[in-house]
Amino acid sequence: MMKNKTFFIKSYGCQMNEYDSNKINSLLLNDGYFNSSDIQNADLIVFNTCNIREKAAQKVYSDIGRVTKEDKSKTIALVGCVAQAENDEIFKKNKDVDIVLGPQSYHLLPKMLKAHKYYQEKQINTEFIINEKFDLIREEKSPKGVSSYITIQEGCDKFCAFCVVPFTRGPEYSRSIESIVKEAEALTESGTREIILLGQNVNAYQYIDNKEISYSISKLIDEVSKIEKVKRIRYTTSHPNNMDNELIQLHGSNEKLMPFLHLPVQSGSDEILNKMNRKYNISEYKHIIDNLKTVRPNMEISSDFIIGFPGETEKDFQATLDLVDYVGFKQSYSFIYSERPGTKAATIEDITPLVEKKLRLSILQKKLEELQLEFNKTFCNKNVDNVLIENQSQSNPEYYFGRTPFLQPVYVKSKNLTVGEEASVAIETCNHKSLYGMLSN
Ligand code: SF4
Repeated sequence: MMKNKTFFIKSYGCQMNEYDSNKINSLLLNDGYFNSSDIQNADLIVFNTCNIREKAAQKVYSDIGRVTKEDKSKTIALVGCVAQAENDEIFKKNKDVDIVLGPQSYHLLPKMLKAHKYYQEKQINTEFIINEKFDLIREEKSPKGVSSYITIQEGCDKFCAFCVVPFTRGPEYSRSIESIVKEAEALTESGTREIILLGQNVNAYQYIDNKEISYSISKLIDEVSKIEKVKRIRYTTSHPNNMDNELIQLHGSNEKLMPFLHLPVQSGSDEILNKMNRKYNISEYKHIIDNLKTVRPNMEISSDFIIGFPGETEKDFQATLDLVDYVGFKQSYSFIYSERPGTKAATIEDITPLVEKKLRLSILQKKLEELQLEFNKTFCNKNVDNVLIENQSQSNPEYYFGRTPFLQPVYVKSKNLTVGEEASVAIETCNHKSLYGMLSN
C-alpha cells in the first residue's frame, strides 16, 4: 500500500509568519500531503523563518541540524525572511536544505516540490511576486477560529535603520478589497467572529479598484464591518505616521473596531527615534494617543520597544520610561537591540555594554508588567460583559478561553458556554497576563 506523504511546519517570529504558515499548511493539504506532528518522520519539513533578530535566524540552523536526514526521500524547505536574506548561501551553510523560498513566493512550494523530485536538484525562488501570491492563496482553505487573521498588506517602504523587513518582504503592496471582503465573509461562515487585519504596515493600506475608487484602511474597516457576523475588528501592525485623522476618528465611530491598538513607538527619545529613522518625534506620537483617547476614552495602547539601540544614553532610556508613564502601555513587547547585517544601524558604533542594556530592559519590563497587572486588577470583582469565547479547554471541559476587547486572556469556569459568542464573566482573580472568573448570572 502506498504511504501517505506527510509534512511538518515550524513557524518562527511574527503573526505574519503564523498566517503564512497556515496558508502553506492549506497549500500542502490541497496538494495531497497530510499534516504530521512528528518532525523526524515527516516526508517534508518546512521551516518558515524570521530574520528580525539574530537569535531567531541562528535557531533555524540549529533546528535543521537536529533533523535526521538519512535518505533522499525527505525534503527540507526553508521559506520566509531568512530565505530571502541569505538566498543560495543557505545551500552552502546546510547541505540538507533542498528548497529555498522567499516570503513572497511560498505559494510556489507545491510546484517546487515536484521540480525537486523530478530533477533531483535544489530549488530556489526569492523573487517579489506578491500580487501572484495573493491571487493564488485567496481561495485556499485555511484553519479557522473564532478570531482569524487576514493579510491585507505586505512589505514596507519605511526603512527603519534597524530593520530587515524592507529587504526581505519588499515594497508596500496592498491586496484588493474584493478579495479581503470575500475572505472575511468565508471566514465568518465557518465560525469567525473577530477579524484581525494583518500587515507589516497595515495602516499604510491603499487600494484603488477598477472604478478608480481609492480605499484606505478606514474604508476597508467600514466595508468589513458591514458583514453582519463580524463582531470585532482589529488591525496590526501600525506605523504612527500612517495614523491619519480618518483612522483616528473611526475609533470613535465604528463600534466593531476594538478599543485596543498596537502602535509601536520603539523609543521615547527624539534623538534615538531620529537615529532609528522612524520619522516622527515623541510629541507627535503623544498627539496621536491623545486624539485616540479623545474620540474613544477607554482606548488602550500597546507598543514595541527596542532597548540599547546604538548610542542610547541613560537620558534616552529615561525618556522611554517617561513615555511609558505618560501613555500607560498595556501588553507591550520589549527587546534588546539586535544588529542585522545590511541595515543602517549596523554601521553605527555601539558602545553600551550588554550588561547595561540587560539592566535597562529588566527595568522597563518590570514597569510594563506592573502597568499590566494594575490594569488587570481594575477588572477584578466586576462583571465583564463582552468576553469573546474562543474555545473550550480540551483537558478540562469545564473551562473556556476567551478575550476581552483589550485582548486580555480570560479563563472562564462554566458548563454552558457557546464558542463564538460574547459572555458576561464575573472576574474573580488575575495576574499580569490573564483574568480568571465564572459565567455571571
Ligand atoms: S516600519 Fe520600520 S520596523 Fe516596521 S517593517 Fe518597516 S522598516 Fe521594519
